[in-house]
Amino acid sequence: MTVEQTLADLVAIDSVSTHSNAAIISYLQKRCESRGLRVQTFPHVDPHGENKINLVARTSNSAKPNESPGETVELALVGHTDTVPYDPTWADALRLTETDGKLFGRGACDTKAFIAATLTAIETLDLTTLQRPLALVFTCDEEIGCLGAKRLAASKPFTARYAIVGEPTSLRPMRAGKGYCLAEIIVHGREAHSAYPQLGGSAIFRAARLIARIEQIAAQLQSERHEDFDPPYTTLNVGLVDGGSGKNVVAGQCHFTLEWRPIPNQESDLVLRLLRDAIADLQNDAEFACDIDAGRFDEGFDTPRQSELITFLEEASSSKSGTVAFGTEAPSLIDLRAEAVVFGPGDIRVAHRTGEYVPVSELNQCVKILRKSIEKFCL
Ligand SMILES: [Zn+2]
Repeated sequence: MTVEQTLADLVAIDSVSTHSNAAIISYLQKRCESRGLRVQTFPHVDPHGENKINLVARTSNSAKPNESPGETVELALVGHTDTVPYDPTWADALRLTETDGKLFGRGACDTKAFIAATLTAIETLDLTTLQRPLALVFTCDEEIGCLGAKRLAASKPFTARYAIVGEPTSLRPMRAGKGYCLAEIIVHGREAHSAYPQLGGSAIFRAARLIARIEQIAAQLQSERHEDFDPPYTTLNVGLVDGGSGKNVVAGQCHFTLEWRPIPNQESDLVLRLLRDAIADLQNDAEFACDIDAGRFDEGFDTPRQSELITFLEEASSSKSGTVAFGTEAPSLIDLRAEAVVFGPGDIRVAHRTGEYVPVSELNQCVKILRKSIEKFCL
C-alpha cells in the first residue's frame, strides 16, 4: 500500500476532537497488528461522554507489558489522531484530493501525513531484525490541549530514549518549543446606578488598572531571553475581556483571559508571581478583589542541540534544527524521559485551514527519513 493510499484512508475517517477517535484507532490497530506489533490501547471517557483512546504499538521482540510495564523503548514515533473541525462547505474535507503535487484534506497536513509516513516506513522494514524496541504512539485530543499525551505521561506505560513527535514542520527538526499557559481572571466590583458611582466600585476600571500592569509585566519579561526563539522572550496576551451588565450600571464583574507562552527553562511560576505582585500593588483600592483561575500550564521543551536525535535528523533532512512557538506533545514525551524533537511533513501555516495540504514530495521524503531513523536507533 502506498503512503498516499494510507493517507487517503486516514483522511476518510472523520476524527475531529469533539467526537470519539475509536474508528481511526481501530484502523491503526489493524495496520500495526498486521506488521506483528504488540498493540495496547488506553481508553478513556471524556467529559462529554466520548470514548477517547491512546494507542501504543511496540515491536514484539521487546518485553511483554506485564513483564515490564515501564519498559524503555529506544525510539517512539508519535502522531495525534484527532483533527480540528472542518467547514461544512469544504465538500472534499474527508476525500484526499491531489492537485499540483499537493494532497488536500482535513488532517492531511496536521498530522495524518506523519502517521501515514510512519505506517509506510514500518512496512518497508523487516521489524524482526530490530535489536532495540520501537514504539508507535497514536494519541487523542491533541488539538484540545494535548490531553491524550498528558494522560500517557501520567500513567507511564513506557519510557523512551528518543521520540519524534509528528507535527507539520516542513521536515525541519524542531528541538525546542515555548510552553503554553492560560488563566482566567475574574475582577469583582459592586454594582450601582451610574449616576452615583461613589455608591459602587467598577470592576471594569479595576480590570483596566490590572491589565495596564500586565502590559508592564510583558515588557519586563522581554529582559529574559532565549535567542533561539522569535520573539526571543515569553509573550503575554489578554485575548478576551467581558464585563458589566449595562451602559448605565457600574460594573459588578469583569473577567478576562491571560495567555502566556513561556520560553523553556524559565522559572515555572514567574508570570503568576508577577501577576500576584501586581494585584498586591493595586490594594490601595481597599475593595480590589479578583480570582485567578489558572486553567492550563504546559511547559516548553529544550532538547540539547548535540542530542544524537537532533544531529541525525539535521543530516537526514539537510536542514538546521529550529524552534516552534506553538504547543506540541513533546513535553509529555520528555516526561516519559525521551529526548524529543518535533518533525513532520507539511507546513504549520496551512494547518487548521480549509484546504490544508501536504506536498507529495515531503510525504515521500518523510517515509525515507523515518525509515532511516528506525534503522539508526533500533537496528
Ligand atoms: Zn497537530
